Amino acid sequence: MGIHVRTISVIKADIGSNAGHWRPTDEVLAAVEKTLADEGDVLDDYYVFTAGDDVDILMSHTEGEDDDDVHELAWTAFEAGTEVAKEQGLYGAGQDLLKDAFAGNVKGLGPGVAEMTFEEREAEPILVFGADKTEPGAFNQPMYSAFADPKVSSGLLLKDTIHEGFTFEVMDLEHTGDGEKKIQLDVPEDSWRLAALLMAPHRFGITKIYSRHSGEPGAAVSTQKLRNVAGEYVGKDDPVAIVRTQGDFPSPGEVLHPYGNPPMVAGSMRGSHNSYFYPVGRGETEIPTYFDGPPLVKALGMVVNDGEFSEPIYPFDFSFWDSVRDDVSRDFREFRERQGVFGPGTVDPGELEYGGWADIMDDLESEWSVEGAEQAAADDD
Ligand SMILES: [Mg+2]
Repeated sequence: MGIHVRTISVIKADIGSNAGHWRPTDEVLAAVEKTLADEGDVLDDYYVFTAGDDVDILMSHTEGEDDDDVHELAWTAFEAGTEVAKEQGLYGAGQDLLKDAFAGNVKGLGPGVAEMTFEEREAEPILVFGADKTEPGAFNQPMYSAFADPKVSSGLLLKDTIHEGFTFEVMDLEHTGDGEKKIQLDVPEDSWRLAALLMAPHRFGITKIYSRHSGEPGAAVSTQKLRNVAGEYVGKDDPVAIVRTQGDFPSPGEVLHPYGNPPMVAGSMRGSHNSYFYPVGRGETEIPTYFDGPPLVKALGMVVNDGEFSEPIYPFDFSFWDSVRDDVSRDFREFRERQGVFGPGTVDPGELEYGGWADIMDDLESEWSVEGAEQAAADDD
C-alpha cells in the first residue's frame, strides 16, 4: 500500500441511554474517548459523536477494512462505555454488544460498520452521517438521489467524470446463510433495476457506491440488521454512512439536497412505525422524544488531511434547515394523528420489532370461523 492509501471507518453502537432511548451520558462518552486516547495507537485520528442514543466512532487509519485491531479497539471502547452505563443504571446498557467477547471483527457482534479505503486526494472533503431510530435502508433514497438522479445531482449532467456514472453495491439484508449476498448495478444503464431494489429498504440496502470514472469508492453505508444477528428484537439497526464529495463525486450540497424534503423511513416508536427523516445539527438537545422520533439524521462535514480529521462542520446547523425541521414536525405530527397504527402508520407485520402482534394473531387463531363454506361446497356438487 502506498503512503496515501487510507481507510476511514465508522463503527457505532447503542451502549446505554439516559431516560430512555435518547442519549448516552457525557461520562459514557468520556469512557469511550479515553479508550481511544489510551489504546488508539493503530489510528491516525478519531472523532466520537452521537446520533440520539448511538455512539459513533469515526476513525482514520492505514490498516484496511475489516481489520482486527481497529475493530477490537472500537469494541473495547464500547465495553468501557458499557461499564459506565451499567454503573449509572442507564437504559439498555450494552444493548448492541450482543456477544460476550470480541471475535476478530465486530460484524455479527452487534455494532454497525461502514468503511471505505481510498487514495487520499490533495483535498479530501467527506460527509459522515449518523442516524437514529431507523434502519440501514433509510439511506437508499437519499443516496440514490445524490448519485443517480440528475434532478438532485446536477453534476451528473454538468461534470464529465460524474457523467460517467456510478456502480452501486446493494446487499440483501434478509440473506440468512453464511456470507453477505450482494449485487452490483451500474447507473445510468441499470438505474431502474437499481430503483426496483432500493424501493424495498427493509430488504435491500446500499453498501457501497463507486465512481465508474476512477473505480474509487464514493460512499459506504452500514448494513447490519441487528434482528438477523441476534435472532430476536434487540433494537433498531441505526445506520452510519461515509460519503466522499467533490471532484469525481457529488458535491456536499448535492448529497444533502435530498434531506430538504426528507423521505419517509421506518423506525420511531418501538422501531415499528413509518416517519420522516429529521435532519439535526450538532445540538445535544436534539433527542428523539416525540413518539421516539422523528428518526434523526446527523451530518458532519470535514476534510481528511494526511489522515487527520479537521474540526467538523455540522451542515444541518444552517438556519435553512429550521424550516425543514418545522415541516417535518408538522407533517409527522399530522401523520401520526391521521393514521395511528393503521395501514402505513406502522411498518409491515413482518418488520414489526416486537412479537406482541404475532402473539395476538396466534391467540385469535381458534376464534375464527369460516361461514358459507358448506353451502359453497354443496353448490359445487
Ligand atoms: Mg439508536
